[in-house]
Amino acid sequence: MLRIGLTGGIGAGKTTVSDMFAALGVTIVDADVISREVVAVGSPALLTIAKHFGEGILLESGELDRAQMRTRIFKDADAKQWLEQLLHPLIRQETLSQLDHAAGAYVILSSPLLLETDQHRLVDRIVVVDIPETLQLERASARDKNKRDQIQAIIDQQIPRRQRLARADDVIDNSLSLEATRTSVEQLHAHYTHLADSLHA
Ligand code: ATP
Repeated sequence: MLRIGLTGGIGAGKTTVSDMFAALGVTIVDADVISREVVAVGSPALLTIAKHFGEGILLESGELDRAQMRTRIFKDADAKQWLEQLLHPLIRQETLSQLDHAAGAYVILSSPLLLETDQHRLVDRIVVVDIPETLQLERASARDKNKRDQIQAIIDQQIPRRQRLARADDVIDNSLSLEATRTSVEQLHAHYTHLADSLHA
C-alpha cells in the first residue's frame, strides 16, 4: 500500500491536516500516539523503565512521569541511549504493524520527527505542512499558553524550515484559512488515490 509521511514544525498544523485526511476516510498512523502507547501503564517497557530508573520515575497514577524522564535524559547521555535502545525498536515494530494493517488506498504516517529520525524510510512520499516561523510562534504559543521563547527553543531544535521543504514531495501551505488548507488536502487526496491506483494497475 502507498505510504505517505506527514510532518511539519511545531504548531504548523499536522493535527489539523491529519484530521482533514481522516475525515476523508484515510487511516492515520500517529507516531506520537504510538510513542505513548508503548509505555502505557502495564506495558512491559514501562516495567523495564521503572526497574532501571526506580519507581520514582512513575506518577502516582502509575504512568510514566514524562517531564521527569525528559529532564533526566537531557542531563544524562547514557540514560538517553538506554531509553532509545529500549523504545525505538518497539515504536518501529508497532508503527510497521499499524501501517501494514491499514485499510484504504493509501495510509498516512503522521510524525513530528519523520525527518529527524529514520521514520522517513518507512514511507514512499513525504508531505510537509508548512507555515512561516512567525506564525508557528503565534499559533503554538496561543494554543499551549507557552512562552514564546519555549516555542522558539523547540523550533531551533527541529530541522530548519528550508531543509524540511527541500525533502518534501508535496507541501501544504497552512498559512491561510482552514478552508484553503482543506482544498489543498482534497487535491492531494485525489492525487494520492490516483497514485495508489496506478501502483496496482
Ligand atoms: P504540534 O507540533 O505542536 O503538535 P501541530 O503541527 O499538530 O502542532 P496543530 O495543533 O494542528 O499543529 O495547529 C496548531 C494551532 O494552530 C492549533 O491551535 C490550530 O487550531 C491552529 N491552526 C491550524 N491551522 C490553522 C489555520 N489554517 N488557521 C488558523 N489556525 C490554525
